[in-house]
Amino acid sequence: MDKCSFCGRKKNEVDLLIAGMGAHICDKCIEQAHAIVEEEFNNKKSSFDLKSIKLLKPVQIKEFLDKYVIGQDHAKKILSVAVYNHYKRLGQKIDEEETEIEKSNIILVGPTGTGKTLLARTIAKMLHVPFTIVDATVLTEAGYVGEDIESLLTRLLQAADYNVEAAEKGIVFIDEIDKIARKGDNPSITRDVSGEGVQQGLLKLLEGAVVNVPPQGGRKHPEQKMIPVNTKNILFVCGGAFDGIERKIAQRMNTKVVGFNAVEHTSSIDRNNLMQYIAPMDLKSFGLIPEIIGRLPVLTYLDPLDADALRRILTEPKNAIVKQYLKLFELDNIDLVFEEDALNYVVNIATEYKLGARGLRSICETIMVDAMFEMPSNGSKKLTITEDYARDRIEKIGMKLLKAS
Ligand code: ADP
Repeated sequence: MDKCSFCGRKKNEVDLLIAGMGAHICDKCIEQAHAIVEEEFNNKKSSFDLKSIKLLKPVQIKEFLDKYVIGQDHAKKILSVAVYNHYKRLGQKIDEEETEIEKSNIILVGPTGTGKTLLARTIAKMLHVPFTIVDATVLTEAGYVGEDIESLLTRLLQAADYNVEAAEKGIVFIDEIDKIARKGDNPSITRDVSGEGVQQGLLKLLEGAVVNVPPQGGRKHPEQKMIPVNTKNILFVCGGAFDGIERKIAQRMNTKVVGFNAVEHTSSIDRNNLMQYIAPMDLKSFGLIPEIIGRLPVLTYLDPLDADALRRILTEPKNAIVKQYLKLFELDNIDLVFEEDALNYVVNIATEYKLGARGLRSICETIMVDAMFEMPSNGSKKLTITEDYARDRIEKIGMKLLKAS
């Protein structure tokens, strides 16, 4: 009688016996083999192979960023150098004699939706290191309602599938760092739970310390065993819009220009884009404590996105929105074409309603939703998005949404 070549069970002892070339396999063995395959794959996915961190030269790093992020050349350049130096530092063997390269945490200042998170995310993708985004506004000092500061390391550990060694070389993006600024330039007398206290708490993380991290995060699991994580080699990238910081920059620059060559100096200032002159002391005037600023030595800014940049974002990045729709329709064998005017219309709507790059996706989604609903079943094989088509869709369904946002 036929039997399973793996476990030896006879045909009448199993539910199913599948015949191959000169061998058989039973349903139980298939299931077991499937579980093994699954586990292997998961292990492979989770193991960040640290030795294989592909460290490109700064010029190559910038070229990589160019594929995903439009414009922001200045920020890209600064980031490329900072990341290159950071990972060079990781490879350094420290002995007594050697000059120790210090950590180069980064702070990105720029309006919301201009690519701060995207830049950090793209760098992590390039390096294949664990990456997490945390919102500074949810962090509070221990003992208050909100998340402990250590929780940002919990997220990093989770992103690294609890591979501590990998997490210790990861990247943490702290968003909305400007929201934990203290309210005035003066140190507070009363305790400031959400702002200065959190900044104090962040200090040791940014600098490098062994921190006991609750693996599940939060205070809901007091029984969990803490995992020590050394933050010495974790790269922190902070981002914030710092609304109104231009005023601080202007103030500083005006006070600076009193002197014998004042006139010459003021005339060379580009008043329309003061952000390019941002300096650490402006962050201090905004309410970051000097110790935090000192631990974020790389400071750079992002430009606001103009219509031209928005237009390029629609089609140029590697995973541009328009490319994604083409792919989606291609999978249904539908030939999709976006006319130039239709894309310009999308950009105009985004500009008119001040939706920025983030709004591009929701505008496109509004335009495409009916077609995506109907076309897979109605058999048509071609769709051309004209300006009229786009306007019609937006006016029918989108306006209410856009006005509300
Ligand atoms: P923030 O500056 O607020 O962190 P994000 O990086 O999250 O902004 O940008 C939001 C979205 O807008 C991104 O996911 C991306 O699709 C798009 N985007 C923003 N800026 C750019 C840019 N410079 N190049 C390409 N896409 C961008």
